[in-house]
Amino acid sequence: MSRIHQGTALVTGASSGIGALYADRLARRGYDLILVARNRERLNALAGRVTRETQRVVEVIVADLNDRTGLREVEQTLRQDASITLLVNNAGVGTHTPLLESNVDDMERLIDLNVTALTRLTYAAVPGFVARARGAIINISSVVGIAPETLNGVYGASKAYVTALTQSLHHELADTGVRVQAVLPGATATDFWATGGLPVEHLPSEIVMRADDLVDAALVGFDRGELITIPPLHALDLWERYESARQAMRPQLSTNVPAARYGVTA
Ligand code: NAP
Repeated sequence: MSRIHQGTALVTGASSGIGALYADRLARRGYDLILVARNRERLNALAGRVTRETQRVVEVIVADLNDRTGLREVEQTLRQDASITLLVNNAGVGTHTPLLESNVDDMERLIDLNVTALTRLTYAAVPGFVARARGAIINISSVVGIAPETLNGVYGASKAYVTALTQSLHHELADTGVRVQAVLPGATATDFWATGGLPVEHLPSEIVMRADDLVDAALVGFDRGELITIPPLHALDLWERYESARQAMRPQLSTNVPAARYGVTA
């Protein structure tokens, strides 16, 4: 099933859920893999199965991306291994709890993983990709980045960051040969929900997508060169109108006079 060799994909949060499915699908597409997460047993089991089924080379890095040492090790790999052509920034945690029921130390850890680690890994990967004029980054964001009222606000805000960073990278890296994509899943059937304190079985089944379907659709979006991929959104025109309103605002967002509605202009 493997096709032409595509280089190596480094996938964070590859021990379960969406990341494990990316690993499987990318190996079948001809990528060698570097799988990153904390759970050694699950990573090794996945690496063994994928190697058997695809004959691709699969390496495992057991690292806690909330820990500076673990994060630095993955950054070093991204800087030094010129075979890496794809970074999938997937590791992330979330919760549904409101501010008054949330512990700020947990929120800081969430930001460290969803924002800081993703940013550091991106900064480690991009210079080599640009120098080689080849590479791609897939950032797993979330629909709550554009609907932060839905779950925990820090989680929503962390994913708004991921989407905004991806949009900025797309702009900065135009004409470098480096591609970026932000994937915005809605509710997806993975351990994410139980880890965050709300098992997925508690959600109405009509709003929950199978993780296989999510990843397969997201990869179709990647193949089509999409910058923003929202597999659960059927009415694409809603996103297109939202995005074109944002683009229309851009040239008007910085002026030397407050808008007339504030009544302060001399
Ligand atoms: P998941 O099954 O819980 O996977 C999360 C992955 O992140 C696991 O492999 C976990 O592995 C890894 N991880 C967690 N903390 C880590 C740490 N400190 N260091 C390294 N790895 C860590 O959930 P998922 O749904 O596949 O989540 C993947 C991404 O999708 C996340 O960014 C999430 O925000 C996003 N997303 C999910 C949904 C959804 O409904 N499921 C919706 C929108 C977006 P270890 O425990 O082995 O470290």
